[in-house]
Amino acid sequence: MKILKAAAEMRAASRRTRTGGKRLGFVPTMGALHQGHLSLVQAAKAQSDVVAVSIFVNPTQFGPQEDFAKYPRTFERDCALLEKEGVEFVFAPSVDEMYPNGAVTYVIVERLSEKLCGRSRPGHFRGVTTVVSKLFHIVEPDWAFFGQKDAAQVAIIRRMVRDLDMPVEIVVCPIVRQPDGLAMSSRNTYLDPQQRKSALVLYRSLMRVEEVFRSGERNSAKLISAGKEVIAQEASARLDYLEVVDPDNLDFMPVISADALVAMAAFVGTTRLIDNVVLKA
Ligand code: AMP
Repeated sequence: MKILKAAAEMRAASRRTRTGGKRLGFVPTMGALHQGHLSLVQAAKAQSDVVAVSIFVNPTQFGPQEDFAKYPRTFERDCALLEKEGVEFVFAPSVDEMYPNGAVTYVIVERLSEKLCGRSRPGHFRGVTTVVSKLFHIVEPDWAFFGQKDAAQVAIIRRMVRDLDMPVEIVVCPIVRQPDGLAMSSRNTYLDPQQRKSALVLYRSLMRVEEVFRSGERNSAKLISAGKEVIAQEASARLDYLEVVDPDNLDFMPVISADALVAMAAFVGTTRLIDNVVLKA
């Protein structure tokens, strides 16, 4: 496994791979890897001849009051895990490599970027789409693998790739959960044992929404209030949003007549967690 720090080195490695007739799968991450990330790597391995994983904690997707400085960084361990998975290239640039002095150019997916997490984290998706475009230009993959855990991110990246004719195919992989249902996240390491228990309320609330949906309810307002009732029972959780939206354009869906994304974000202590479920029409 080669660890590359320079964009030019990464691009050269990718071009050598692809001119040799091999197809390249790419998994962008911010490191602090867990089984959720590794499931993407495994999907990439299964489908591609060669796999590249990036590890880059991207400053432009964090707000000024957010956790960029304290975000977990476990580079050595990450590399050991990736080596075991048979990854060929790890691209681990510095902030200066990705954002040379004076960088002022951004990619913005209008409207979609202001929904869900974009509403409570202004500028977040602008940072995501900018760094993902840069990574696509550097890595030039055939396929890029993303997790359904970040469902809004998936919708926004798909739209960006379509709108800007980026020559990459997006592959989405299911949410990996702990045995009790908590969606795996690098931010789960912030939770103390009590908060870890409270954090399960996100999943419980989504399961309640799904249950009410299965019993025949198609009115989103009713589904949302059923989910909110569950959240309200957990004193240490504070809801940021719980919404029912169209999974492609993230528009509010008042009545469920097609597949619907139920997306939520909640704070447990100071840790902001997200989760979602898709209701199949
Ligand atoms: P991150 O390192 O948090 O930026 O995540 C990198 C990629 O891993 C993104 O495509 C995430 O959606 C994906 N991911 C993170 N957690 C999970 C999970 N629990 N299940 C599936 N994919 C995940």
